[in-house]
Amino acid sequence: MASLSSLRALARRTTDPDLAPLKVRSCRDLCNWNKTPVERRGEPLFACRGCGSQWVPSEHWTPREASGHIPPEVLTLLRAED
Ligand SMILES: [Zn+2]
Repeated sequence: MASLSSLRALARRTTDPDLAPLKVRSCRDLCNWNKTPVERRGEPLFACRGCGSQWVPSEHWTPREASGHIPPEVLTLLRAED
């Protein structure tokens, strides 16, 4: 069944942000979140320059800057959803 799993791996090798899994890494003291020009399933995609994590508003966690603050653009989005 090795061939089947390698086919699946190939299918996953896509740059389509709608299909690509989000990268979530443990954020460190370098975290610096930025809104990207990319949309994923209709949501704005954010990316952390510090650790390479990605975030969209439907995720069940909230990104934080190295300072511990929630990035203002993220806060605005979260408030808008309430
Ligand atoms: Zn980070």
